Amino acid sequence: MSYDTHNIFAKILKGDIPFEALYQDEFAVAFPDINPRAKVHVLVIPTGPYVSSEDFHARARDAEIVGYYRALDKVLEILNLKGNSGYRLLSNSGKDAKQEVPHFHTHIFAGQDLGPMLCV
Ligand code: 5GP
Repeated sequence: MSYDTHNIFAKILKGDIPFEALYQDEFAVAFPDINPRAKVHVLVIPTGPYVSSEDFHARARDAEIVGYYRALDKVLEILNLKGNSGYRLLSNSGKDAKQEVPHFHTHIFAGQDLGPMLCV
């Protein structure tokens, strides 16, 4: 699947759509989800054009991959989630996972009892 440069996160990265940056560096940007499914629901996206986790891990440079996961860890720190009552990281990839936005991202859910891992 080729990268759609008009997807909503591409527009956020270009500055075409306003967003509340919780964290931003060369490799990643983090902002609250527009439709939160938990008390804390934050998205962390790489700054590069990757469709999904498999695309990111296949095509990104090692520095981008390390930079992205270090940024994700910093966001956990900013949200004061490390060493506390817990959180969930989730990345949807493809049709079965109902990935909505074709730009790789990790959801951070926290701030409450998150219930079972899957409700299918
Ligand atoms: P996915 O299903 O692709 O894993 O999740 C995409 C997420 O992006 C959804 O939770 C959706 O609410 C969120 N989202 C979609 N459009 C926007 C937007 O314009 N701004 C923000 N902050 N989140 C968005």
